[in-house]
Amino acid sequence: MPEAVIEIRQIVKNFQVGDSTVRALRGVDLTIERGSFVAIMGPSGSGKSTLLNILGCLDRPTSGKYFLGPDDVAEMDDDTLSRVRGKRLGFIFQSYNLIAQLTVIENIQVPLIYQQEDLEEHHDRCVALAKLVGLENRLDHRPNQLSGGQQQRVAIARSLVNEPLMILADEPTGNLDSETEAEVLDILNDLNSEGKTIVMVTHDDAVAQHAHRVIHMKDGVIAREVINEPAIR
Ligand code: ADP
Ligand code: MG
Repeated sequence: MPEAVIEIRQIVKNFQVGDSTVRALRGVDLTIERGSFVAIMGPSGSGKSTLLNILGCLDRPTSGKYFLGPDDVAEMDDDTLSRVRGKRLGFIFQSYNLIAQLTVIENIQVPLIYQQEDLEEHHDRCVALAKLVGLENRLDHRPNQLSGGQQQRVAIARSLVNEPLMILADEPTGNLDSETEAEVLDILNDLNSEGKTIVMVTHDDAVAQHAHRVIHMKDGVIAREVINEPAIR
């Protein structure tokens, strides 16, 4: 049996808005194995981002079980949870979420700062990550001097800097044209081939075809799951 990076059971997430309760997740079971590439699809409002945020320990479920590797997330205090998140998980967002005042290399270093790592010590590795995403000649550029595709590539390098086990991406190609979308997907595919576990939310069927497994969400539950044949990846 391949090792599970994440195992969740009967995850429920309610949001209280005034007097009403929004039931965003209504009992989700999911096991994500090490080295897999999972896409999460579904209509707007079906709970995709809520699920990704819980998988990424950015939010806690209302109820249910969540194991990250061998560890029960419910038993971690907030400090432990944010340390574990910083060490084991990398994040990529639709709108890149770069810091406008920082250069490419400084943006890549941001998660190291959160982990109180020595920047000098990791400098060469950060340059290597910039190179990995094809931006070694843009180290001193700021986000507004880059195209959308280049900004997303900075965000990918940033997501890798703490050498996470798993990358969580919420609509990573949602703001990109088809050419830069292909560049970003190529990088994600390469990372997955090298063993990184990837969980990616997308509403685009063609993008989801890059994944091994496609989870379809509907009304806060997993409605169905499709396994992609290697031939079409
Ligand atoms: P998706 O990413 O599939 O579009 P979301 O996970 O963002 O869906 O949202 C699922 C449901 O939960 C929606 O009905 C949404 O309005 C609601 N929701 C999400 N986040 C919050 C929040 N912070 N407060 C209240 N309701 C929320
Ligand atoms: Mg969403």
